[in-house]
Amino acid sequence: MTAYDPDNIFGKILKGDIPSHKIYEDDDIFAFMDVMPQSTGHALVIPKTGSRNILDADPQVLANLIQKTQTIARAVMTAMNADGLRIAQFNEAPAGQTVFHLHFHIIPMYDGVPLQP
Ligand code: 5GP
Repeated sequence: MTAYDPDNIFGKILKGDIPSHKIYEDDDIFAFMDVMPQSTGHALVIPKTGSRNILDADPQVLANLIQKTQTIARAVMTAMNADGLRIAQFNEAPAGQTVFHLHFHIIPMYDGVPLQP
């Protein structure tokens, strides 16, 4: 597998080189709004340590990321008054990954469809 490149977009967001709309941060995790949302309230959750995707992630980092994603997903669902949520995660370009820093998408759904921003 290709090695993690810290100069990816989310790496730059973590360094503060690219601005983002932060919704959560702790020592290990950062969450922010997607700049091209698939639905109103589309958020992204990332670890602060560098993993390209789920395939090279440290298991403990991944476990913590999933637990924090659950907490943030509940908050997003409440804040956005959504009917449901999609949690999405892609691995490598053929699967649709475009930013090569591990992330989970949280996508609010409304009566079975996204709410167009
Ligand atoms: P992927 O296709 O890799 O799973 O998802 C990458 C996501 O990152 C996309 O939904 C895209 O809209 C989002 N994204 C790309 N560049 C930026 C950026 O500079 N800022 C933010 N907040 N999101 C970005």
